[in-house]
Amino acid sequence: MLLAESCPIPGRNGGPPTPDQMNCELPHPTVGLSGPQSPALQPLQPLLLEQGHVSSPLKACHSLQQRRRAEPPPSASTAAIITESGCYVLLQHICDTFSEGVRAQIALPALFGSGFVARRRRRADTLRARRSEPMELAKRGLRERGGAETLQGELEALVQDVVRSSSWWERHGVDCAILALSLLAVPAGFLCLRAENTLVFALGITILGVCHYTLTVKGSHLATHGALTESKRWSRIWELFFVEVCTSFTAEHANYGHVKMHHGYTNVIGLGDSSTWKLPCLNRYVYMFLAPFLIPILTPLVALERLREVAPQTALRTLSLIALGLYSHYWLLLNVSNFRSPATALACMFVTRSLLAHPYLHVNIFQHIGLPMFSPDKKPQRVHMMSLGVLNLPRLPVLDWTFGHSIISCHVEHHFFPRLSDNMCLKVKPVVSQFLQEKQLPYNEDSYLARFRLFLNCYEELMVQTPPITELVGMQ
Ligand SMILES: [Zn+2]
Repeated sequence: MLLAESCPIPGRNGGPPTPDQMNCELPHPTVGLSGPQSPALQPLQPLLLEQGHVSSPLKACHSLQQRRRAEPPPSASTAAIITESGCYVLLQHICDTFSEGVRAQIALPALFGSGFVARRRRRADTLRARRSEPMELAKRGLRERGGAETLQGELEALVQDVVRSSSWWERHGVDCAILALSLLAVPAGFLCLRAENTLVFALGITILGVCHYTLTVKGSHLATHGALTESKRWSRIWELFFVEVCTSFTAEHANYGHVKMHHGYTNVIGLGDSSTWKLPCLNRYVYMFLAPFLIPILTPLVALERLREVAPQTALRTLSLIALGLYSHYWLLLNVSNFRSPATALACMFVTRSLLAHPYLHVNIFQHIGLPMFSPDKKPQRVHMMSLGVLNLPRLPVLDWTFGHSIISCHVEHHFFPRLSDNMCLKVKPVVSQFLQEKQLPYNEDSYLARFRLFLNCYEELMVQTPPITELVGMQ
């Protein structure tokens, strides 16, 4: 099993993780611990060591990999996927025996011939060009415009002006109203499921699915960041409601994995590198089309597994709130929607909870993976980390509503100012984008379809191999 399971949660007291704790977090597939068969890190490590880029966690990772080579591989391993959006889902049941069998990429060149290999090489070249472009821009911007801290300060001042001139309705009201509407629509969804008419029944499934994702993704994400209210007490109450009751996950791990690690160390290898989203044992089609269905099933299971790491009273609270959320959903289907058997009620729960699982999984990998990655001991300043390592998608009405602007079209703004609500991220977007463009810093944007194609075409490079470390000389 993973070493992380026996390690304390790093940085739980608010500080950064210690080197030992960082080592505990490392056994992610990204850093080459996918098993003795994985060739990903082997050619990379000597080069990195030679260049002095490898951090102590990566060295630890190397030695761990060597140790694993000497030992027989475990029959199965489990890790959590902590979602980008605050609805911290886990997904990972990697069976080593299964993994080698389904790794279709290995067989593809043999099946499709040398033309296939040449196309794959061209894609890899395109990918490298895409990665180096924003970095060049960032370096130029830094040389020409002064220090990173000054830039960050200037941007914060501009955004603060916008926030100060905004009303409560703009700062919190709009998003609270969307969440309240979603809660109010839930009874209508359950009532629609009583209907014999197929269209009304489908409407009920759609209402419940959309409300589920609005409450679990948008609600959990904003609540975890404390962006719904300025009251600490109410922030905590909303966090427990959205994360534990609605999402069936633990608030403690959601906060630690998303706020502390993902936001604190965006695209830093082994810390906030989105590697928990990678399942290198799956081929591209299984991952992109079938793996999302695992999300509603694995989320509460991983939460249960994580309870071993928290205090008994916290575990009891989390367990009670998760049970309350799941059982009330089931009870309403039996008693309000008049489902006749437990099996059909459970099937309906699964369908509504996986309605938007595909865009949810896709968005979480599209926003960071494939962009510059940094070494823990040479991570760049915040302004460069965020402008290089985060990407915005265009506005998409259904996803804007259910996941929120901070996850879709204002993800860059959200990483710069994580305590702003979705509506405020949308409001400050012109200020942030204009500032970054004026200072010649990258502002990454791409369409959902383009990212989808990129991930399907370059799945091996993006989701299986160890990402190359980007070193910004003079910018750390
Ligand atoms: Zn966030």
